[in-house]
Amino acid sequence: MSDAGRSPEDILALRAQHLGPSLSVSYRRPLKMVRGEMQFLFDHTGQAYLDCVNNVCHVGHCHPKVVEAGQRQMAKLNTNTRYLHDSIVDYATELTSRFPDPLNVCYLVCSGSEANELALRLARTASGGHDLIVVDGGYHGNTSALVDISPYKHDGPGGRGSPDWVHTVSMPDTYRGTHRDPSLAGPAYAREVKDAASIATADKPNLAGFIHESVLSCGGQIPLPPGYLDAAYKATRSAGGVCIADEVQVGFGRVGEWLWGFELQNVVPDIVTLGKPMGNGHPLGAVLTTRDIARAFDNGMEYFNTFGGNPVSCAIGLAVLDVIEQEGLQEHARTVGNHFMQGLRDLQIRHPGIGDVRGHGLFLGIEFVKDPASRTPDAKTAGEVVEQMRDRHILLSSDGPYHNVIKIKPPMPFSVNDADRVIAEMDDVLKKGTGSTHDS
Ligand code: PMP
Repeated sequence: MSDAGRSPEDILALRAQHLGPSLSVSYRRPLKMVRGEMQFLFDHTGQAYLDCVNNVCHVGHCHPKVVEAGQRQMAKLNTNTRYLHDSIVDYATELTSRFPDPLNVCYLVCSGSEANELALRLARTASGGHDLIVVDGGYHGNTSALVDISPYKHDGPGGRGSPDWVHTVSMPDTYRGTHRDPSLAGPAYAREVKDAASIATADKPNLAGFIHESVLSCGGQIPLPPGYLDAAYKATRSAGGVCIADEVQVGFGRVGEWLWGFELQNVVPDIVTLGKPMGNGHPLGAVLTTRDIARAFDNGMEYFNTFGGNPVSCAIGLAVLDVIEQEGLQEHARTVGNHFMQGLRDLQIRHPGIGDVRGHGLFLGIEFVKDPASRTPDAKTAGEVVEQMRDRHILLSSDGPYHNVIKIKPPMPFSVNDADRVIAEMDDVLKKGTGSTHDS
């Protein structure tokens, strides 16, 4: 083996031999990454790639302040929450101070899935109900219960559809959905939440709550239309349910204007779940809720999480919050995101295959269509752009129900120059042609 380690081919062969086969690998020519630095990843040959997809390494791959905080605490002590330690209360104080009242209580966990699992339990205990209203195309995690509430999974390959306690409402999509006038779409789509709430309560009050991503992610980078959550929350609460905002993708300043995505809609959820960016790659997640819901959950059964809230995780979480503030990353996401969005809109004028450009801050989507009038999804071009950009050392991915939306959610240090580079390269790829024919 050379200094660079095993060859990509050897790694693929060993994965096939020893790892469960339901894992996927990005790109036709898979990449072997060996190092990360801020918004860049480096492959085994030393080539740099601009990372436009990884919203986990939020403040930058291997940010030195986060690395140092983790290393220092790891060398000193790592244990569980049954001993008193400063770091967990320091972190809980800092984290809860960043949420509006009455979201004053937090639980620390190790992933977005654990956060949503706990949110489900909290919602059921507090409401006394069982049923959930979910948004189509949504993904909330990898456990059995979360696959049940994730149409992205249970309606996808290998899925078995939704169980009868799950009520699915349409994505509030103003580009492709039923309601396209942004000024009316919010309340119009929220009527589906009201209808679902009345089904869930028709025989007996059985609604636990409504869960949504604050900007739809796997569903195709779809911002919620104005007034959607306000009306959906009212409908949920009047049927006895609680409102859960899944901020696993978009939290911690990514949307630019606000620290949390739900704030774009001027609502306060009853439960908020956090994950991915929270530990900058270290497994850290959280559930924020109200004191009343936390009290209802305190029914004698302990909630213990072996790794959740350990001193190393808390030191890392604190460092992430510090860096976001010290480096002004939320405002940075707003200004760079606006610049990027404008550049992509100019690109859309030159390339009619770009049907829509949307998002907030550094959470953007580019939807490819065969022609702007029919809006027929063009997964082939989206996929080909992703592959050709990879060959130009720019990392992107595609998603959405038709796999025709390119997702952009880079580490937050991503700059105006990086945005200009992505636009120039994508312009060139589209000018030269992706080899997609539009007859399939
Ligand atoms: N919620 C959302 C919106 C997500 O995107 C994800 C992960 N992609 C999860 C929850 C689950 O998080 P994890 O993979 O950390 O369990």
